[in-house]
Amino acid sequence: MKLPRLFLSPVARIALGLVALLLSLLIALDLLFGLLPDRVEQVRQVRQQVSESLAIQSTSLLQSGDLAALHRTLREMLERHRDLRSIAVRPARGEVLAQAGEHGIHWHPPEDGSSTLDQIRVPVLSDGMTWGEVELAFRPALPETAAEWLSYPSVVALGLIALASFGAFYLYLRRVLEYLDPTKAIPDRVRTAFDTLGEGVLILDKQGRVILVNRVFRQFHPAASDEVIGRKVADLDWLVAGFRERAATRPYPWLSAMEQRTQIQDEPLEIAVAGDDEPMRVLVGCAPILDGQGRLRGCLVTFSDVTALHRINAQLLVTLSDLEASREEIRRQNEDLYRLATRDPMTGCLNRRAFFEGADPLFARISGEHGELCCVMSDIDHFKSFNDRYGHTVGDMVIKSVAKCLGSELREVDLLCRYGGEEFCILLPGSTTEQARDVAERLRASIESHAGAAVRDIPGIQIRSSFGVASIKLGAKDTAELIDQADNALYQSKQNGRNRVSVWAGERSVGGS
Ligand code: GH3
Ligand code: MG
Ligand code: MG
Repeated sequence: MKLPRLFLSPVARIALGLVALLLSLLIALDLLFGLLPDRVEQVRQVRQQVSESLAIQSTSLLQSGDLAALHRTLREMLERHRDLRSIAVRPARGEVLAQAGEHGIHWHPPEDGSSTLDQIRVPVLSDGMTWGEVELAFRPALPETAAEWLSYPSVVALGLIALASFGAFYLYLRRVLEYLDPTKAIPDRVRTAFDTLGEGVLILDKQGRVILVNRVFRQFHPAASDEVIGRKVADLDWLVAGFRERAATRPYPWLSAMEQRTQIQDEPLEIAVAGDDEPMRVLVGCAPILDGQGRLRGCLVTFSDVTALHRINAQLLVTLSDLEASREEIRRQNEDLYRLATRDPMTGCLNRRAFFEGADPLFARISGEHGELCCVMSDIDHFKSFNDRYGHTVGDMVIKSVAKCLGSELREVDLLCRYGGEEFCILLPGSTTEQARDVAERLRASIESHAGAAVRDIPGIQIRSSFGVASIKLGAKDTAELIDQADNALYQSKQNGRNRVSVWAGERSVGGS
């Protein structure tokens, strides 16, 4: 059967060794100089005195022939001295004359007639001759059982000394060892191995005190030299300043790693370096160190310098944002290009090419679905007179103002095109003839009421437009034919006095107001 191995910490083992040394020293000193009182000798002297005085009393009682008094004296003696087991007075070569206690049981003298510590014989003299002797049987002076030995005063004293000195040695050694430089106890090859690592390494004891730093760590900061050994890592201000704010809410990573017995990786930390604008950026990793029994012994903390990586990352971010900006610029330019390619620069309306690109598929789809689609043609009345009277610039303003009025009244799905100089073409998908006529009428009224006001250079200028409406329902085969029909209706409006809406109704258009 395998016995469980008793685990003792090195401190406890050293303390035990010192206790053993102290006890040996005490015993040696006692042997040499009698430090502890000799209890056996004390007992021997007391017993000798008791025995002598009893012999004297017995002698005088024998001489007076008072045997009863002798018996009484022996009994009193036995009662008085609890250490005594039995007493007897025996003449030389004769039977016991008087006794107290069970002398036959307790009396076992040495054969040679001498006394021992527990069996004492004292001669009784009569007229200078030995008459006989007093025999005293004492209880054993030295302990006989293990339990008696354990309560023996000298053993108890030594035990107490051993216990007290063990406690004192243990506490003292623990305290002293904390202040000793533990790196001296770490083999050179271990230190060399740590020094070859590319990461900064700290080994902490379980109280968070530094017991080893490697070469890379020492190079992190001017203060990261050897005097960090033995200090609590939380007291290394230059190192933990970056953690300080977070430490208020959660513990340092090495404390968490030790508390939860788990590894912690890639905790970011910034270390400010004097004279350097940019802080050093490190990733901190922590792994608890456990012994064979799974008990916590300390923590291994690593510091990976990622400053260069961080710098490259920052540069990449700048490049990325530049790229994003130029992409946005290209998108804007593309938009401009698209607008230039599809819109009339003066009014922002669709140009003819873009209009037909949208209008032809729209016509084909609605015609296929037998849906509603109307075209509205519009032309500014007497436009030439604006040019002639106020010049082309004002003419342009009039065109822009009319385009704005038209655009503001239309839906998203409607197509508005600057069809010619001051002519506009509008497609209204889904609108019936009546709805389209209403829209055209609204547009006409809007131009008549508001377009002039937008031409600020010529106060009170009156702008009006004529409109022609045509619906797909009257049989146009394509967009061009539908536009022609609307144009015919527009012609009718011009013919009928301008500033009005006409609807194409086959060969005969219907004029509006
Ligand atoms: P009507 O009522 O019959 O339409 O009379 P009108 O004077 O408007 O006659 P018309 O439509 O034939 O006149 C078009 C004129 O518009 C001819 C041209 O000089 C002028 N014009 C065409 N494009 C522009 C332009 O972009 N700017 C300016 N200022 N004038 C233009
Ligand atoms: Mg015209
Ligand atoms: Mg005109």
